[in-house]
Amino acid sequence: MAKLFGSSGVRGLANVDLTPLLTSKVSSAVATHAKTKKATVARDTRVSGGMLEDALVSGLISCGTDVLLLGMLPTPALAYLTKALGADVGFMLTASHNPPQYNGIKVFNGDSLSYTDEDQDAVEKIVAEGNFTLADWRKLGRATSADAGQIYLDMVQEAVSLKKQWKIVVDPGCGAAFNVAPQMLTTMGCKVTALNAQPDGYFPARKSEPTAESLRDLAKTVQALGADIGIAFDGDADRVAFVDEHGAFVNFDRSLAAYGAFSLKRNGGGTVVTNVEASMCVETMAEKYGGKVVRTRVGDIYVSEAIKRESAVFGGEPCGAWVHPHIHLCPDGPLSAALFLAALEEECKSVSEFIAEVPEYITMRENIACKNDQKYKLVEKLGDSLKTAFPAYTDFSTVDGARLALKNGWLLVRASGTEPLIRLTVEGESPEAAKDITQKATALIHKQIEAQ
Ligand code: MG
Repeated sequence: MAKLFGSSGVRGLANVDLTPLLTSKVSSAVATHAKTKKATVARDTRVSGGMLEDALVSGLISCGTDVLLLGMLPTPALAYLTKALGADVGFMLTASHNPPQYNGIKVFNGDSLSYTDEDQDAVEKIVAEGNFTLADWRKLGRATSADAGQIYLDMVQEAVSLKKQWKIVVDPGCGAAFNVAPQMLTTMGCKVTALNAQPDGYFPARKSEPTAESLRDLAKTVQALGADIGIAFDGDADRVAFVDEHGAFVNFDRSLAAYGAFSLKRNGGGTVVTNVEASMCVETMAEKYGGKVVRTRVGDIYVSEAIKRESAVFGGEPCGAWVHPHIHLCPDGPLSAALFLAALEEECKSVSEFIAEVPEYITMRENIACKNDQKYKLVEKLGDSLKTAFPAYTDFSTVDGARLALKNGWLLVRASGTEPLIRLTVEGESPEAAKDITQKATALIHKQIEAQ
C-alpha cells in the first residue's frame, strides 16, 4: 500500500486522492489505534471541508467516539483545544498552504502534539488491514457542536498583553484565521485593518502560501496606511509571515533567527530548534545570546519532538511555522504574531529594526537530474566524498539528506520526495563563498551520478 501519511499528515486532491471513504477509514483507524473516547474536529475554509468532515465524524462515531465539532478554526487552535477540552485526539481537515483543490487530515494527540511516525504507521496498518474496532449499535459515539474559539483567544490574551496601540494590517488570505486573527488583535487593543478576512475556500484573493509575491497587496496596504506591521497566515494559520513598517516582506529565516535570539535573551540561554534547511543566521544569533541550535529533519513534527526532547525555549521552520513550548507544541501563527508584537515592545524596536541585527547570507539552490531509483543511494554515498572535497568542514549531519557545515557557509544535499532530482541548497557568508561551494558541490554530484 502507498504511504498515507506524509510529513504533515494525510494530504491529496479532494475527492481524487482524499475521498470521504478514505477519510472515514482514517478516523476509524485512529479511534481503533488510540481507543479514543473523545475527539475534537475542526477544518479550514476549503470547499471540500464539510464533505470530509461528515465522513471523518461518521468514522469516529462508528467506533464509539464522542466528537466535539469546533467548526472553522486555525490548526493551532484545534491542537490547543484538544488538550484544553480533555480530548484524546484532535483532527484538523486542512491542506495547509496548498492550492484550494487539495485537502488533508492532520492528527494531534491529547498533548497537542502532532501524530508521530510510529502512530502514523500503526494507523496505516489498520487502514490497510481494515481492522477497525466498531462499536455495538447501542454504544455509538455522539457529535455535538462547541463554540470553543474563545477558549483559544483567552489563552493568547493571558500569554500576551500589549501596551502600545499597534497599527496593523492583517491578511488571513480567506483561510482558517479569518475570524480569530482580526478578533485577537482587536481585543489586544490594536488598530486593525483586515484584508481577505472572509472565509472563502476558493482562496480568490491570494495563494494560501505566504510569500513576498502572494503578500503584495498586504505590503501595499501597510505602506498606504502607514501601518506598523503587516501580518499574514497560510491556509490553516500554523504559519505566520510579516511585512515591516516600510512595506517590505520580512525574510522567514531572519525573523526566525531574530525571535530565536529574543527567546534566548529572555531565558538567559538555552536551545533553539530548527530544521536542516534554515539559514545559519539562526546559529549566528543564538551564539550571540549564549544559546545553541539543534537541527532536525524538515517537517514541523520533527521540530516539535526535538523541542520537547531538548526542553528548548523556542523552535520553528523557515516557512513561518513557530512553536512556543511554554504554551503548547503545535506551530501557532496567531500566537506567534502576538508574541512577536510583545517582543518588539519589549525591545522598543520597529519590525525592520528588530530584524536588522540578523546578518543576511546568500542562498543558492540547484536541482540536478537523477533517476528515482538512484537518488537516495547517491545522497547516502555522497557524504564521504563531500567530506574529502571540503576537508575544513566543521560539522556533518545525515539527519535529513547530507548536510555539511563549513566555516563560511553550509551545503545540504537531499533527494526530492516527488521528482527525479537531487536538490542542492547552499548558503555562503558572501556571494563568492556561496558560488564557490555551489560549483564544487555540483561538480561532485555530477561526477557521482556518472560513476553510478
Ligand atoms: Mg499550514
